[in-house]
Amino acid sequence: ANLPSYFDGLQLAAREVGGLQIQNRGTIAGNICNASPAADSVPPLLALDAIVEIAGAHGSRKLPLSKFIKGNRRTALDPSELVTGLFIPKRQSTSHATFLKLGARRYLVISIAMAAVTIDFDDSNTIQDARVAIGSCSEVACRLHGLEDALKGKSAGNNLAAELKTDMMSHLSPIDDIRADAHYRLNAAAVIIRRALNDLRTGR
Ligand SMILES: Cc1cc2nc3c(=O)[nH]c(=O)nc-3n(C[C@H](O)[C@H](O)[C@H](O)COP(=O)(O)OP(=O)(O)OC[C@H]3O[C@@H](n4cnc5c(N)ncnc54)[C@H](O)[C@@H]3O)c2cc1C
Repeated sequence: ANLPSYFDGLQLAAREVGGLQIQNRGTIAGNICNASPAADSVPPLLALDAIVEIAGAHGSRKLPLSKFIKGNRRTALDPSELVTGLFIPKRQSTSHATFLKLGARRYLVISIAMAAVTIDFDDSNTIQDARVAIGSCSEVACRLHGLEDALKGKSAGNNLAAELKTDMMSHLSPIDDIRADAHYRLNAAAVIIRRALNDLRTGR
């Protein structure tokens, strides 16, 4: 679909979900309701400040995605409720996004780590706002607010990747599993965040 550039991260993530059959039939609502730590749409939606619309027998309500997913396979849905929509706050045309997923192979794979970054630049290429989300490195994908704060005010000409410091990832809690151990996941997450920042700096 021909969407504004800040949807690029979500579009890239959609192309990573399973194979073509899953991509043709699966929905974004199903992806977030699955509440898997490795759900590919969640980091880009967090980096877009997505709002989830919920409807049920007792009316409808809206929740930020960050409050909708409560844990591994747990959401804020009551048994009578369905997700009926997702709202993405409108950004300026100078807002850009990307998504990177690392798996044990290139395609049809559950991620080891994934990163979604949305950056709002002003007309002079200075960062007004940044949203960085990491998936598969904690029970619920989460934002890196420390890094986001550090990026604000920086110019696209700066080495943005150098803004990521280890302590900005201290709230992550990756697990050891068959795909990767926790140490590897954390290192991989740092690498793909830096790559994503470089991509947005140079590839717009
Ligand atoms: C072979 C295979 C590979 C896969 N690979 C990936 C992958 O790489 N990345 C990834 O993120 N996921 C993957 N998945 C998981 C899944 O297919 C995707 O998450 C997909 O987006 C789910 O969407 P769906 O519409 O099919 O939801 P469903 O599978 O139909 O539903 C998932 C859950 O959400 C609930 N649900 C669905 N829609 C709503 C709604 N509107 N309101 C309330 N509850 C709802 C269902 O009741 C169910 O509990 C894979 C699945 C398979 C079978």
